[in-house]
Amino acid sequence: MTPLDRTRAILSDLIAWPTVSSDSNLEMIAHIANLLSDLGARVDVMADDSGTKANLFATLGPEGDGGLVLSGHTDVVPVTDQEWTTDPFRAVERDGRIHGRGSCDMKGFIAAVLAMAPGFAAASLRRPLHLAFTYDEEVGCIGGRALVDQLKARGIRPAMAIVGEPTGMQVVEGHKGCCEYTVRFHGLEGHGSAPDRGVNALEYATAYVNRLLSLRPRLRERTPPDSRFDPPWTTINIGRLSGGVAHNVIASRAELDWEMRPVQDSDLQFVKREMARCCTDDLLPEMRATFPEAMIETLIIGEVPGLRPMPENDARDLVMALTGENDAGLVAYGTEAGLFQEMGMSVVICGPGHIEQAHKADEFVSISQLEKCLAFLGRLQDGLEQYGRRQ
Ligand SMILES: [Zn+2]
Repeated sequence: MTPLDRTRAILSDLIAWPTVSSDSNLEMIAHIANLLSDLGARVDVMADDSGTKANLFATLGPEGDGGLVLSGHTDVVPVTDQEWTTDPFRAVERDGRIHGRGSCDMKGFIAAVLAMAPGFAAASLRRPLHLAFTYDEEVGCIGGRALVDQLKARGIRPAMAIVGEPTGMQVVEGHKGCCEYTVRFHGLEGHGSAPDRGVNALEYATAYVNRLLSLRPRLRERTPPDSRFDPPWTTINIGRLSGGVAHNVIASRAELDWEMRPVQDSDLQFVKREMARCCTDDLLPEMRATFPEAMIETLIIGEVPGLRPMPENDARDLVMALTGENDAGLVAYGTEAGLFQEMGMSVVICGPGHIEQAHKADEFVSISQLEKCLAFLGRLQDGLEQYGRRQ
C-alpha cells in the first residue's frame, strides 16, 4: 500500500467519527492510540475532567528534550444548518478531492502523519518525534491548553512544533490571539419613572462598552513598530449586547459579548487591567451605592494566545527548507500554535488543504495537497535521521 492509499484509508476512518467539539472524541483517540502502540510508540491518552474527551501524546524515537511535535486537533465544527450534498461523516472521493467534515480541518493532516508513522517508527531518529492530537480546539483551544500543562507537569520540553492546520502547505509563522469574553451585569429592577431607585444594568453595560472603545486609540499607539498584522494593532469588537424587558422597566440584567485580537501579550494584559479597574473603581461602587448585591461577572469564553512571528525560528527555517517555500506568512485565524510558543518552543503552521474549504458544507482536501504533505513528511523523516550527525 502506498502512503497515499494508507492516508485515504485512515482519513476515511477518521471522518467517520463525528468528533464535533460538543461530543466525545474517545473512540477516535483509542483507534489512533492502538495504531501507534502497534508501531512501538509510547502513547499517553490524557482524558479531561469530564472523562468524555482526551488528548493523545505519542513519542517515537529517543526520549528526552529537544524533540519535534507534529500537532493536530481531533475535533471538528458542527454541520448544523449546512447543505451538504453527501453525508458529512462519510469520506467521499470525487474529482481529486476527498470530501467530509474535518477532511481539511484537520483530519487530513492527522491521517497523513499516521500514514507515515510506520516509516518514522522504523527510522533511526536522532531526536524524539512527538505526535500531539488534541480535543476542543474549535471552541477555544481547551485541549491544547491542557496538553501544554500536562507536558510542563511531566517535564517534557520539545524544541519545535509543526501545527498542521490547513495552510495549503504554505509556511505560516504568525497570527493574532483571539480572546472572547461574556460580561454579565446584575442590577436592580424598578419602575421606569424612577430611574434613581433601581440600578440599570443596560446603562452600566453601555458604560463598560464605552470604556472598551476608549481603549482603541491607546491600542493603536501601542502597535509594535515591526507588526506585520492587518491591521497591525490589537483590535476590540463589540459582538452582542442584550438585556432589559420593556420601555418602562429599569433593566436588571444585561449581557455583553466582546472579543479582542491581541498582537502582543502586553496588550491583552493592558486591556484586562483597564477593564478590571473600570469595574472595581468606577462601575461597581456606583451600582452598589443603590443596590449592595449588584454584580459584574466576567466569563472567559476563550483566550487563545497569538503566534508571534520571531526573527529566529528554527521550526520555520526547517519547514521552509523541507517544503522549498521561500517565505513565511501570517494568517487571520487562530490555532494552538501560540500555546506551544508560550512553552518556549519554536513553532510554525503548515498543513494540507485550504482554510477557505474548512468549516463549510462539502468541506474537502485535495489529493494533491495530501501528496504534498506526504512528501514533506518523508523529507522530515530524512531530516530527523540526519539531525545530530553533523554535530
Ligand atoms: Zn483547525
